[in-house]
Amino acid sequence: MFANYIPMMIGPIYVLIGTIVLFVLLRNGKLGNGTRTAVLTLSALLGFLAFTPMFPVQFQQVLLGKGPDGKPIVAAVAIILLLVLSTFITGRIFCGYLCPIGAIQELSYLFPTKKMTGQYGRVLYFARSIVFAAMIISAVWGGGIAMLEWSGISAFFHLQTGSLFFYIFAVILVTSVFLYRPFCRTACPLGFVMSLTSRLSIFRIRSGKDCSNCKVCEKKCPTNTAIIVPDRGGECYLCLQCAKKCGRDAVSYSSQRN
Ligand code: SF4
Ligand code: SF4
Repeated sequence: MFANYIPMMIGPIYVLIGTIVLFVLLRNGKLGNGTRTAVLTLSALLGFLAFTPMFPVQFQQVLLGKGPDGKPIVAAVAIILLLVLSTFITGRIFCGYLCPIGAIQELSYLFPTKKMTGQYGRVLYFARSIVFAAMIISAVWGGGIAMLEWSGISAFFHLQTGSLFFYIFAVILVTSVFLYRPFCRTACPLGFVMSLTSRLSIFRIRSGKDCSNCKVCEKKCPTNTAIIVPDRGGECYLCLQCAKKCGRDAVSYSSQRN
């Protein structure tokens, strides 16, 4: 009986251990490029090998009143609730490093080519709000449409190359070479919720007293989130581009302005 639940527990255990380890590394400024890439690769592989930790999919199942893979819904609600609550303390470590959907887009964005930059962040944010509202409406009144299926997440990570949906996510992935995390920023319902809660996170990327207000960090932020614009703080994926580009070493993950 207990053995049936072991595959289901891989994702939550990975997220719990991963969050603690990444928090310590971020807090001590020890999360280097090699470790980042290794964690992102492991997270993406877990998506292919075990389809876990796919919490956006489980979040949708909860919205639709179903438990993941026929398992009790209470467990999924508890895990997602804990995950969302954790963002009040740590910010979006899950999105930044542990979600396979986010990880594979982040890896794609590492491909060295010209990136789409500009002040389009608010447009994407607005689009995701509309998508989230549509998901709620479809869950409550629409007979329970599993809208995330249309993005092809499930088909892609299950390598269902015969499905049209597989190619939808493949296009999203190619887009993420140029545009930072298109799925996360336009469609993910869990990301939408965590973008609200993480605005209040205790630990976050902050500029310190050595900051000269040159705004290099803002310009390098792939979401145009920026440390300096507080109301966009929810869109920080802890990618550390801002910290790496700061010539005064004034940007860090901390609980207060150092
Ligand atoms: S926004 Fe959604 S898909 Fe993107 S990393 Fe976060 S939970 Fe995963
Ligand atoms: S560049 Fe900095 S502020 Fe922007 S998403 Fe990455 S870590 Fe967050």
